[in-house]
Amino acid sequence: MTNFRKNARKLPVIVCIAIIIFGAIDLSAVTQSQNDAATPPAFNQLAHDIFKQLVEINTTDSVGNVTTAAEAMAKRLRDAGFADKDVIVAGPNERKKNVVARFHGSGKRKPILFIGHLDVVEARREDWTTDPFQFVERDGFFYGRGTDDMKAGDALLLTTFIRLRKEGYVPDRDLILALTADEEGGNFNGVEWLLKEHRDWVDAEYCINLDGGEFEKQNGKRLQAAMQGSEKVYADYQLESLNPGGHSSEPVRDNAIYHLAGALTRLRDYDFPVKVNEITQNYFARTAEISPGDSSADLKAVAKNPPDPAAVARLSREPYYNTLLRTTCVATMLSGGHAPNALPQTARANVNCRIFPGDEPEEVRRTLERVAADSKVSVTLVPQLGADGKPVPTVTVPPSALLPEVVKAMEKTLNETYPGVPLVATMSAGASDGKFTRIAGIPTFGIACMFFELGDNRAHGKDERIGVQDFYDGVNFTYKLTRALSSPN
Ligand SMILES: [Zn+2]
Repeated sequence: MTNFRKNARKLPVIVCIAIIIFGAIDLSAVTQSQNDAATPPAFNQLAHDIFKQLVEINTTDSVGNVTTAAEAMAKRLRDAGFADKDVIVAGPNERKKNVVARFHGSGKRKPILFIGHLDVVEARREDWTTDPFQFVERDGFFYGRGTDDMKAGDALLLTTFIRLRKEGYVPDRDLILALTADEEGGNFNGVEWLLKEHRDWVDAEYCINLDGGEFEKQNGKRLQAAMQGSEKVYADYQLESLNPGGHSSEPVRDNAIYHLAGALTRLRDYDFPVKVNEITQNYFARTAEISPGDSSADLKAVAKNPPDPAAVARLSREPYYNTLLRTTCVATMLSGGHAPNALPQTARANVNCRIFPGDEPEEVRRTLERVAADSKVSVTLVPQLGADGKPVPTVTVPPSALLPEVVKAMEKTLNETYPGVPLVATMSAGASDGKFTRIAGIPTFGIACMFFELGDNRAHGKDERIGVQDFYDGVNFTYKLTRALSSPN
C-alpha cells in the first residue's frame, strides 16, 4: 500500500525480548492456554525467523523474485503439517507466484480470507544506512525493505496459521491465507489474478487485509486501533500542452511549458468539494473523543452531516485530515521540451489523484479540465494495466459496511490486549489489494494488527523500520483476533 499516516514527531525507546532459539524447541510440547497467555517464546522466535527470511528475499519488481518467497512460506506451512493439497503456489508469471493455504474448519460459517502482499517497492543501497535486504535489529527497531510495508504483516499471518495448526485448533469456518505478488506495481497483481482465475480458492464471507488499518501510537502511547473499511482510489491523469514550437531566439507568450505551468498553479490552489461517508464520519467522531480542545471541537463539527464549513477549513490545513475530507490531486511528475535552444512543442505533467469513494474518475477528469482552464491543456486519464497487460477501467470502490461480528471480535481482542484503546473505522488515502476484493463483492477490512509510531512512517522510503516490541505484540494480537473471528463458541 502507499501507506499514509498522520505526521507528529517524537521517537520512543523500546526494550527487546529475550528469545529462545527455535530449533531447540519441540513445537508439539506447547500446551499453554491460548486466550490470556502472551505468545509462547517458541512462536515469537518462529515469527522473528519468518520475518527475517522474508525481508532477506528480494521481492522487488525490478530484480526480485516473489515466487521464491511464496515457495519458502509454502514449505514452512507444509513442514508445520498443512496437507499438500491445502497449500498452493501459483501465478501468471514464473517470478510472480502467490501462495494460498486453507485451514479447514467445521464449516459452520463461511470462510474468512486473510491477505498480505509479498512484494516490496524498490530500494537503493546507497540511500540506506544498512543493506535494505538485510534484516537488522538495532535500538529497538527491525530495519529492512518491507519491514513496515508489509512483510511484518505476512509474518504475523503465517505464524498464526502455523501456531493454530500446531495447537490442533478447529475453527468453525475455513481460514484462507493468500500471500500475493505485485501489490506495489508490476503487471501480475496476485489478488486480482486469484479472484479472476481461481475464485474458489479464495472465496470468503469477508476479507481481513493486514496491509491497511494501522494501529496508531504517539510517543509510545497507544492512541487507537484502526479498522479500515474504505480506501480512496488511485488514479493518474496526464495534463499535456502541445505547441508548434520554433527557434528559442524568437520567443512568444504562447508556450507549451507556460500553458502547463499556469494550469498546474491553478490546480495547486484548488480544493475538491468536501465529502463524507459512514467510515469518515465515524473516524472524525471517535478521534474527537481522544483529541485535545480545539481540534476535538472541529473534529466533532466535521463528523456532522453536512460537516461545518469553518471546521472543515481549519482541519483541511492538516494534510492527513484534508485527504479524508475530499478527493485530492497533486502534480507528481513533469516533462517537456526537446532541445535547450528550441521552443517546447510538448509539455506534460502527471497528476496523481486519490479519489474519494463515490466520485467518478471521469467527473474528476472534467473537474481537472475546468480548473486547468486552458484550451491548450488537455487532461486525460492514464489507463491502469491489468495482469494481462490490457487497460482496466478505473472504478471507485464502495466502502465495506462495518460487519458487527468483525467489530465484536476486534473489540473483544482489544479489551484482552490493550484495554481502553478505542477502535476507530478508517478510510485509507492509499490504495491496497482490498480494492480487488471489494470490487469482487467481498467485504474487506484493513486491520494491521500492529501499532505504528505516528511521524515515523518510512514505508516506501529509506531505512524502513518497525518497533521490535510492536512486532511481537502484533504476533499476539493477530493470533487472538483470528481465534475471536473463528471460535466455535
Ligand atoms: Zn503495502
